[in-house]
Amino acid sequence: MRKVDKDLVQKPASLTLPELADLLKAIETDKNLINSDIYRGKIRNDDGTLHKEEVVEALEAIYNGKCAYCEDFTSTEIEHYRPKSRTMYFPKHGGYFWLCYEWSNLIPSCHGCNKSKSFEFPIKNQHVRLPDCYTDQVLDLEKCVARNTPLINEEPYLLHPEIDEPKEYLSFQIDEKKRGIALTGLDGSNKRGEETIRICNLNREELLRKRQEAVIFPILKHFKLAFSLLSKQTISKPQFIELIYAIFEDLEKEKHSNERPFTLLRKTIMESPQSFKSLITNQLPEAQQQFIQLSFESYFHSHF
Ligand SMILES: [Zn+2]
Repeated sequence: MRKVDKDLVQKPASLTLPELADLLKAIETDKNLINSDIYRGKIRNDDGTLHKEEVVEALEAIYNGKCAYCEDFTSTEIEHYRPKSRTMYFPKHGGYFWLCYEWSNLIPSCHGCNKSKSFEFPIKNQHVRLPDCYTDQVLDLEKCVARNTPLINEEPYLLHPEIDEPKEYLSFQIDEKKRGIALTGLDGSNKRGEETIRICNLNREELLRKRQEAVIFPILKHFKLAFSLLSKQTISKPQFIELIYAIFEDLEKEKHSNERPFTLLRKTIMESPQSFKSLITNQLPEAQQQFIQLSFESYFHSHF
């Protein structure tokens, strides 16, 4: 997960339809009227065939085609951050149906994260109910925005990628069973990182492996190649050192690229000599570890 900027004013047109207020009023008495055509932003051709899905497209553009939770590339499912039809473990609550078309409640998700999260939405405080979002007996759309009062006062455990800074809550380590790279919660007793990992099942085996294959393996391969060129004397020692520094430079540039999967992992690797050591250096052949780690420390201290 990484922090994402979403413009809450420039919404897709299907979420600002004039008839939306009446449709939401009807949903207040019958949740079955929630229409996925609206929250996906479906626009049809004259013959009824699908022309495009403007909400899906807008979210894909904002999130670079990645799942908001696991940061893998995905075919986008629209996930309601606050579940729209029921809330797991709190059957009396009945879900946040009035937020079904709320832009700040719509998050792009892969099937795996969406399925795992399901209707789960644990919070620290009291659940907000429909009347809490009224002003003068009418639904107040400002009160439906995820970052506003009263919703923010629920203090959800699940991180919101448009509100929270995930790197304050999440870090990475080599999986204990060596299956790949695992996420860990950083925030101790606060538990938001840990809970987000649990709710979306962000340490499922497929993701452990994909993080390793997409991010770690290519880096290890670059170092391997540099050492091999040096040992064959294809390059001189000064050229070798230059090459190692060029690899660090590339990693530094790459961590800002949102077009690649797993941006938070790329950022974490470059965040400190300790994280570089635990995620990269320790996976190198022992004979190469000391040189690479010392080089990284010198690179890091000369840049930051
Ligand atoms: Zn996902």
